[in-house]
Amino acid sequence: MDQASEETALEQGSRDVVITVKEDGQRRFCRKCQMDKPDRTHHCSVCGTCVLKMDHHCPWLNNCVGHHNQKFFYLFIFWGVFYTSFVGIASIFPVYDILISENGLLEIDVNWLFVVLAGCIFGLCLAGFCSFHSYLLLTNQTTIETFQRSRYRSLGAPLRQDARAKQLNLFDLGWSMGDGRSFPLNEQAYEAVSMNEMV
Ligand SMILES: [Zn+2]
Ligand SMILES: [Zn+2]
Repeated sequence: MDQASEETALEQGSRDVVITVKEDGQRRFCRKCQMDKPDRTHHCSVCGTCVLKMDHHCPWLNNCVGHHNQKFFYLFIFWGVFYTSFVGIASIFPVYDILISENGLLEIDVNWLFVVLAGCIFGLCLAGFCSFHSYLLLTNQTTIETFQRSRYRSLGAPLRQDARAKQLNLFDLGWSMGDGRSFPLNEQAYEAVSMNEMV
């Protein structure tokens, strides 16, 4: 697709235009997989393959989280918050009863203490993690994109690459599914990073 037809396709809201490029402005290409990378695709060195809309490689699940399993990952941590919190909080009461009894401190099974601690700690950590991923889902971002801003290619007017422009997420249309290979752009954000738009 040449640039003129890409611009037309972009104006028509086509999902077939790749908008992200490398630092030098070249097309993103994975040498290991020998293929062009669609927008938001990254190569995972652990999994040894490119992952569509890669979020991160999860060492707990020993798998990548990306376009095809992000929903299941989110549901896993969402219900994990309730499960671990329930286990932690429900265990506090029998542990308290044992501790206030005579010689309770000496007789308590260490497994009880472990259940309370593990439940509460995992519940708190997962709650923070789940909140962060809720924010990512609602703003159509990935974990990678929060610390590694995308460089966009210019279609027509050259794009600004300053700090303000790098804060903008061109894919933020709220929560949306997509096909994992191409993404409709937030037109307001796109115009804001265009050089001919005063912000
Ligand atoms: Zn790859
Ligand atoms: Zn991976």
